[in-house]
Amino acid sequence: MKIELPFEQLAQAHEYIAQAKHIVITTHMAPDGDAMGSALALYHWLKNLPATDHSQSVQVVVPNAFPAFFNWMPDAEKIHIYEKDAKACETLINQADLLLCTDYNDPKRIGPIGERLMANNAPKILIDHHLHPTDFANIVFSFPEATSSCEIVYRFITQILENQSPLSKEIATAIYTGLMTDTGNFAFNSNSCELYEIIAELVRAGIDKDFIYNAVFNQYSTDRVRLTGYALYRKMRIYPEYHLSLITLSADELDQYHYQVGDTEGLVNMPLQISDVYYSVFMREERPKPGTPKPRIRISFRSQGDRPVNVWASEVFHGGGHANASGGELFGSLNQAVQLFEKTFPKYIKK
Ligand code: 5GP
Ligand code: MN
Repeated sequence: MKIELPFEQLAQAHEYIAQAKHIVITTHMAPDGDAMGSALALYHWLKNLPATDHSQSVQVVVPNAFPAFFNWMPDAEKIHIYEKDAKACETLINQADLLLCTDYNDPKRIGPIGERLMANNAPKILIDHHLHPTDFANIVFSFPEATSSCEIVYRFITQILENQSPLSKEIATAIYTGLMTDTGNFAFNSNSCELYEIIAELVRAGIDKDFIYNAVFNQYSTDRVRLTGYALYRKMRIYPEYHLSLITLSADELDQYHYQVGDTEGLVNMPLQISDVYYSVFMREERPKPGTPKPRIRISFRSQGDRPVNVWASEVFHGGGHANASGGELFGSLNQAVQLFEKTFPKYIKK
């Protein structure tokens, strides 16, 4: 179904944008393709709005670093990363008179910048596709049925000014990146004809979809590919009667392969390639940060079909997400995380 954004909310958003002098766009921790794409698409669109006051500043602020395989995205180098420059990011958020929030449903998902965002009373516009957004934004465009936040950004920018603003190649490239990554290159959650109608428009706007695929999926380091091999060969445990797979990687193991942000992206999907594996869980150990005594275990959940994993992620691992793709965390050892996983999976998965 084609997603139509409510006219009144679009009109209000338009007014906010027209009046704003300092716009800040934020997106979630560990930015993925949809986070990067939705934030940068809005950035390019706002920067090039024909009627906008030229003194309007537009900035993107993210909580922590994004993977190097997004460096090629137009203007990615202009993104402010809180983890690297907290002061500058705080100033930008404090000064903002309009905050755009993309690809997250709760200020907790933007980690350390969430509190700053909420301390600023400026209007907030949320564009997202996660279930049950918390009540933190003035205008909410939340469509869990959408493939991605980028799909809603596309609707937003093409509906808000009745399509008077041309879709530039930069905007189209950013949007395509999120459509592609949030559907696993159109392998799941991608069966609506409207999606391909959008892609046709993006190709018309000049994107090179083969280039984008190559830039995101074929630029890995040797270490990354070897780490994937090691994880699948040595670390994948299958629980056959539960159609379940678990991969764990300790901080030491990650060090051996000179782990860089993003190097395990997509790894959790790979056990689902096995014919009778329908659930896959991946745990990655992060060394304790100064001031936090325990390591953090970051956990990714994936499943196929009518086998939701988000309740498990939320009730046991303080996370949540989509029915078939969720995340969570545990502060403790990898062993503790595995024990909790083994104790709880019989309750949360369908045999
Ligand atoms: P990933 O495994 O790729 O990190 O996360 C998969 C999906 O789960 C994300 O797109 C996001 O929607 C959701 N997710 C990941 N971590 C969390 C979390 O801590 N809390 C919530 N509510 N959702 C999460
Ligand atoms: Mn998304």
